[in-house]
Amino acid sequence: MDSSGTATDSFIHNLPKVELHVHLEGSVQPATLRELVARRGSPPSDVEQWISTRQTSGYRYATFMEFVEAFKFVATLLATPHDYALAATRLMEQLASQNVRYAEITLSAGVILWKKQSLDAIAEAVLEATRASAGRLNLRVRWIFDAVRQFGLDHALQVVDWAGRYRPHGVVAFGIGGDEARGQAELFPEAFRRARDLGLHTLAHAGETAGPQSVRQAVELLQAERIGHGLTAIQDPTVIALLRERAIPVEVCLTSNVATGLLKRLEDHPLPRLLQENLLVSLHSDDPALFGTCLEDEFARATRAFSLSAPQLVSLCRNAAHASFLPSEERESLAAEIDAVSSAILA
Ligand SMILES: [Zn+2]
Repeated sequence: MDSSGTATDSFIHNLPKVELHVHLEGSVQPATLRELVARRGSPPSDVEQWISTRQTSGYRYATFMEFVEAFKFVATLLATPHDYALAATRLMEQLASQNVRYAEITLSAGVILWKKQSLDAIAEAVLEATRASAGRLNLRVRWIFDAVRQFGLDHALQVVDWAGRYRPHGVVAFGIGGDEARGQAELFPEAFRRARDLGLHTLAHAGETAGPQSVRQAVELLQAERIGHGLTAIQDPTVIALLRERAIPVEVCLTSNVATGLLKRLEDHPLPRLLQENLLVSLHSDDPALFGTCLEDEFARATRAFSLSAPQLVSLCRNAAHASFLPSEERESLAAEIDAVSSAILA
């Protein structure tokens, strides 16, 4: 901490962190995109122009759909299982370099099916990449297979079955994301039920592009165990009460919500009010390469925008440990590690 009691960048760096909301496709940095294109021998001009557009726009998107197009652009460049494995290894390296101890990474399994690629081969490749790098990086990783809301129920059921097949090999959960208006929760109770029957955890992006009712439906109709974003929950006190009573964790992604045009300024984010409401809130990076951020930056930006104290940052990390889909003893030991390291730094 500095003399004013504010957390410094080195405190943020040294804090053991937990990343629960990061998309593999949204984590691919420009250097890796260039490598993918060069390896294929295709002309680099499209990628160079795309990278330059991102940088000159300050990683802002005029609309949420413009962001979706950027996500699809990167997903399309991931053409082979090897490409996905490379992206997974690079993301693990980025996380480990920020002192992330545990991560649940989302693979857009739905987008892979949409691209008509072999999900089997890609799942094998990323899970093998995870096994190969976990020890060297001192980073545990589990995977979330994610379906695209607007692709409907049959698509979601396919993703559930793939997630179930790979559950013994490191897939812990099934989730949905995308357009909440075109893929409302009422379409998906069967998919969530089947996921639970297969022993998977469940979660949903909700209250990101739609109002608080979407969060309520994710909790009540889908029984989602965690909510991604939950940005609009603050508009309805009864939804906030529901999240608190059921102790549903909310994965906050600050920069993402500004970059995709949902908020004008970071300072408009309801994070301080969510904390005041005693919700189980944690901080995450979502699509770090598409938003020009990383998990450490999210902590630094939250600290600056909302004057968070060092103990508040510790509790955001501890919340993430408790919100994780690890077995309870491992959750407890992760939370204990966060407490022990932060107490030693703050002493
Ligand atoms: Zn997300």
